[in-house]
Amino acid sequence: MNSTDNNRYARQRILPEIGANGQAKLAQSTVFIVGCGALGCFQAELLARAGLGRLRIADRDLVEWSNLQRQVLFEESDAAASVSKAEAAARRLRAINSTIGVESLAVDVTTRNAESLLADADLVLDGTDNFETRYLLNDVCIKQGKPWVYAGVIGTMGMVMPILPGRGPCLRCIVPSPPDPGATPTCDTAGVLNSAVAVMASLQVTIALRVLLGSPPADTGLFYVDVWNGSFEFMKFQKDDQCPCCAKGNFEFLDARQVSWTTSLCGRNSVQVNPPRSVELDFEALRQRLEPVGSVSSSGLLMRFKADDGEMIIFPDGRAIVTNTTDVARARTFYARYLGI
Ligand SMILES: [Zn+2]
Repeated sequence: MNSTDNNRYARQRILPEIGANGQAKLAQSTVFIVGCGALGCFQAELLARAGLGRLRIADRDLVEWSNLQRQVLFEESDAAASVSKAEAAARRLRAINSTIGVESLAVDVTTRNAESLLADADLVLDGTDNFETRYLLNDVCIKQGKPWVYAGVIGTMGMVMPILPGRGPCLRCIVPSPPDPGATPTCDTAGVLNSAVAVMASLQVTIALRVLLGSPPADTGLFYVDVWNGSFEFMKFQKDDQCPCCAKGNFEFLDARQVSWTTSLCGRNSVQVNPPRSVELDFEALRQRLEPVGSVSSSGLLMRFKADDGEMIIFPDGRAIVTNTTDVARARTFYARYLGI
């Protein structure tokens, strides 16, 4: 350790909650950040500065201009060049702290790779923008006995909940099934305040540090914060002894390996996105949510939606064809962005 290293964590080492032993423990820890959007950027920066030993980051997307308002690792040049978030984040994090390990992957976390990506992580942070991935993470973390910290942010409010296998409820104890596609607002349809993201990510990182240092919060439950109103609530939740995931060990989201979400439609410059279970979309409600952010038109059973970052044809069963692209990950992102799953 050189003198620079010695000074770097001085303000953190003198905290009784951390100390020299805690700092050494953090240097031995690996955290997996799933999704490097607004939450993931804040999480990664805080952990890199705190001296986490190794950060693994996965994101399937590219940096866009609309990200810069809240995704603090990215700069104008990243958006201008449309670089992958994984690449831009790694560059910035290495500049912030060259002494830690940064492994940044431009991949979609799916049923095919989730178990191996999570296997050697001590803890997982939710930086995702969709419920499909969160339920998959919940399955893998419960199966591997690994702590993870959920967060969701929309508008000026957000929620954070630690999921500590064996100690408290899992995601499915509280919300047994993900909402249907199109049933919930997303940041792209409802907006998001950057300070709300900062608060949720800070809560997540604090919980992560506590878990990694062996002093997890005594009560398990959900933080609900509205930064605009200044309201802060904590709701305690218990484990559900009938929970299909943590009580019965049915890892339905992980085991749905045969389900393929996306198919590139050969020769059509389009990708089909097919949710794993069929749903009945409320087109009228969907139209009201999508109209402020793009153009919406209906013809017969279809709804056409066009925004600055793409266009798609939506079917009543939740299926969509994302047109003018053959990039499966981009199509999946576009779908998640506006239909929220
Ligand atoms: Zn459960």
